Amino acid sequence: MAYVITEACSKDALCVDACPVDCIHPKKDEDSFEAAPQLYVDPVECIDCGACVPVCEVSAVFPLDEVPGQDAESIQRNAAYFGR
Ligand code: SF4
Repeated sequence: MAYVITEACSKDALCVDACPVDCIHPKKDEDSFEAAPQLYVDPVECIDCGACVPVCEVSAVFPLDEVPGQDAESIQRNAAYFGR
């Protein structure tokens, strides 16, 4: 399983700092940050710790099996960002 960031993401990047395995990208110092519509979780690297959820001020992060139906496309979108 993995966590998934949905379109509600505000790119505040608090989750990036909270993630112990550095699997949320793009980070603010990456070239692609400005153009990215949201941040994404690498579904292979994510260890399902949940640390990104409470720090998200817009409640944009969900465990895979709790992604709201209207955000189902976010699952593929997160994986695709990393070529997964
Ligand atoms: Fe990173 Fe943990 Fe969130 Fe996965 S659940 S993206 S490992 S902080």
